[in-house]
Amino acid sequence: MYDIQSQLPQDLLQFIAGDSHLLQMTIDTLPVPIFYKDVQGIYLGCNKAFEDFIKLKREELVGFSVHQLFDKELADIYQAADQALFSNPGIQIYEKQIRTSVGEDVYVKFHKTSFNDSNGNVAGLIGVIFDITEQKKLEMKLQRKAAYDDLTGLLNRCEGMRIGLERFDNAIATGNDFGLIMIDVDHFKEINDNYGHGVGDEALRHIAMTLAQSITSNEILIRWGGEEFIVLVMAGTVDSKSFAHHLQKTAEQCRQTLVQTPFTQVTPAQTITISCGLAYFTRKSWEQLLHDADLALYRAKDKGRNTVSF
Ligand code: GH3
Ligand code: MG
Ligand code: MG
Repeated sequence: MYDIQSQLPQDLLQFIAGDSHLLQMTIDTLPVPIFYKDVQGIYLGCNKAFEDFIKLKREELVGFSVHQLFDKELADIYQAADQALFSNPGIQIYEKQIRTSVGEDVYVKFHKTSFNDSNGNVAGLIGVIFDITEQKKLEMKLQRKAAYDDLTGLLNRCEGMRIGLERFDNAIATGNDFGLIMIDVDHFKEINDNYGHGVGDEALRHIAMTLAQSITSNEILIRWGGEEFIVLVMAGTVDSKSFAHHLQKTAEQCRQTLVQTPFTQVTPAQTITISCGLAYFTRKSWEQLLHDADLALYRAKDKGRNTVSF
């Protein structure tokens, strides 16, 4: 029987750095890029899939370091990762976005394993590269879909809820003011009834875009549902004594900008108005804040709509 132990080379480094025809033939049949380097980071060898992957021949690679082959930024990253593995030998797995020589962005997962020499000292590494571009693209698409509203492109309720709670907790921790504007479009049903649901959708896009243009980068706009939106307002540079005023000013800015920007996809152009309910006070719970803003919104509707109310 073939005794693999007695056939194993004394020194794996010598073995893989040597010209083993069998090893080369074997790894060349594998469709995933494989490479190996010594502890100085010098390439000892690779398979055919790796040659195709980095668009270099084996002869152009063996005997060279990453700094001699790639631009400094990428080489520094590879070298730092290799050093981390040599300092903490075993298996190292990480993902990376890289640009191919033809300018294509690909996502790869590196799976590197260190190996020792016959004295038990770390002697190098063997790396395998998995192309996870399709998986990453799908992951990003799903992440986007989970966080943003399809119709308006704004943050959706679920993500808005998560961010709102996070900002609320942060306001509690820092003692900063935090508030929200709950927005409901006035008589929106009439737009659907008069022009159809498709135009209603266009109107919602118009409202979302106009609201987004009415606020600063310090505020966060969320499509809360249907024809309801929420603006999260952080204290920012505003003195806390004037926060109520700041919140009201922000809501007024939204309301007025929408009035001044008619919806022109119908004839005659329609002026769309909103009602805004405001709430702030960091010592309450996030749920209480939402509830207070909701009650304030009812008060704004009761006052005759197209208005802002605490
Ligand atoms: P109010 O001033 O009291 O808020 O009146 P309103 O007509 O806006 O109130 P109501 O809640 O009765 O109507 C909201 C409408 O918004 C009803 C619903 O069909 C419509 N709506 C909700 N989501 C969408 C959407 O995604 N697209 C369209 N086109 N309409 C929507
Ligand atoms: Mg509503
Ligand atoms: Mg409404």
